[in-house]
Amino acid sequence: MRLVLVLGDQLSMQLSALQKADKTTDTVVMAEVMGEASYVPHHPKKIAFTFMAMRNFAKALRSDGWTVDYTQLDDPENTGSITGELIRRASEGNAAGVVYTEPGEWRLISALADMPLQSHSLPDTRFIASHSDFDDWAEGRKQLRMEYFYRDMRRKTGLLMDGDKPEGGKWNYDHDNRKPAPDQVDYEGPLRFTPDEDVLDLVTERFPDNFGDLRPFWFATTTAQAQEQLTHWIVGGLPKFGDFQDAMLNDQPFLYHSLISFYLNAGLLDPLAVCQEVEAAYRAGHAPLNAVEGFIRQIIGWREYVRGIYFREGPDYTARNGLGHDRALPDVYWGGPSKMNCMTQSVAQTKEHAYAHHIQRLMVTGNFALLTGVDPAHVHEWYLAVYADAYEWVEAPNVIGMSQFADDGIIASKPYISSGNYIHKMSNYCGSCAYRVQDKTGEKACPFNLLYWHFLDRHRERFERNPRMGNMYRVWDRMDESKRETVLREADQWLGRLDQGEAV
Ligand SMILES: Cc1cc2nc3c(=O)[nH]c(=O)nc-3n(C[C@H](O)[C@H](O)[C@H](O)COP(=O)(O)OP(=O)(O)OC[C@H]3O[C@@H](n4cnc5c(N)ncnc54)[C@H](O)[C@@H]3O)c2cc1C
Ligand code: SF4
Repeated sequence: MRLVLVLGDQLSMQLSALQKADKTTDTVVMAEVMGEASYVPHHPKKIAFTFMAMRNFAKALRSDGWTVDYTQLDDPENTGSITGELIRRASEGNAAGVVYTEPGEWRLISALADMPLQSHSLPDTRFIASHSDFDDWAEGRKQLRMEYFYRDMRRKTGLLMDGDKPEGGKWNYDHDNRKPAPDQVDYEGPLRFTPDEDVLDLVTERFPDNFGDLRPFWFATTTAQAQEQLTHWIVGGLPKFGDFQDAMLNDQPFLYHSLISFYLNAGLLDPLAVCQEVEAAYRAGHAPLNAVEGFIRQIIGWREYVRGIYFREGPDYTARNGLGHDRALPDVYWGGPSKMNCMTQSVAQTKEHAYAHHIQRLMVTGNFALLTGVDPAHVHEWYLAVYADAYEWVEAPNVIGMSQFADDGIIASKPYISSGNYIHKMSNYCGSCAYRVQDKTGEKACPFNLLYWHFLDRHRERFERNPRMGNMYRVWDRMDESKRETVLREADQWLGRLDQGEAV
């Protein structure tokens, strides 16, 4: 008898470890353990989602004929770690060894490799590009730009291809996907499912102080429910997904986004099958090309690409700090008061739903952390904790690389920074803010306006020669000297107040 480990983000019947095992002789091990539930202070919704989805998956395995040794968090014999549970189950059942699919995090990869049990790790085949596919693509390239990787993935999968040409003649329709916020959203948002109350009670009892609202809990926790959400979104959200992909609205956390990242990352949905379903909607004339291409690019492009970077760069990636930033994470990230409406909106919905869409993560909370110079390790821990879709393989490259430029430009060719103008253009946040987005200096000046120049000025040596940033420096240099001094002085004063814990 061998043990077959199934982790909380490996809830797929197609999992390589299950495919290689024999349900008549092998035993599946699944465990809710404190080690995994507390290595960062995860959002309670994320913990509840994982436990519910794991329990449902164990049920599905048993009905499929598998023997499952399942440990609940409150089992008295629970050893508290994945390796502890494997060792305990192995000695109880006299197992010959353990088969598992490679975890998506270096921490767990090394814990499993060091375990005093005979074990066999298999590649995670739920992705389109294997590690060697990515390394072959990356080999010899000076820059690892996602766009070229994405084209290869289009050719490999045949998605949106017209022979050997891209559908519609262009690989990328992003240009059409930057419309500002609509006046009204005519999609009702994600489906809401009934939760397992026992799990909610357990999470309430064991994680009373974690940041985030547990109730109301509405996530899908089975493959069937996740599929229902996907179909619901393809009908109602996909047609306008592209147009308003970057838009943000007060009290509208979901807009036209799919809200399937939790389900994809946990294994409830298969990325290729999802893209094929979305392509079918385009071929049936139900959704425009800009929406469908934009969506498919996020999945076979960005999602696969960031995974490739995570595994290629190695375990020290999360410790990178190329810009030498060292500020503590401001309280506003944990729900502390702030006068900045864009920040309070983005954090409030994160607290409520364990979700924010891409532009809120990149251009509001990410932009603010980068401009204020927060230590990227703290930023990384926050994102890993508060989003229900956050697993290190996908979160770290997005945060350390794309958002904080802490990897010295492996992912992004220039830092994603902006003044208040961008947020104003893409949202209605500024209309209800205590600051004035049009003010560049003065008491009511939008902090993004001050901090943008402060960032450029303090990192001049690093970015002045970046061909994509020369224009920014030319604008700064053309500014009147006294104006530049005022901007820098006010930015310093503002940062000083932030450091004092003032609700700025
Ligand atoms: C700073 C930062 C941190 C992020 N952290 C995570 C994370 O921990 N986990 C995570 O899954 N995504 C992360 N993302 C990417 C993206 O924000 C989320 O995938 C997306 O918001 C999930 O919501 P959705 O399902 O409604 O996505 P949609 O907007 O509907 O997009 C469709 C799908 O595309 C995929 N996708 C889109 N962009 C990316 C991307 N940059 N990287 C990987 N996949 C992408 C997701 O699977 C998503 O479900 C992060 C982005 C940034 C800028
Ligand atoms: S004015 Fe500035 S701080 Fe206020 S919402 Fe707009 S961008 Fe955010």
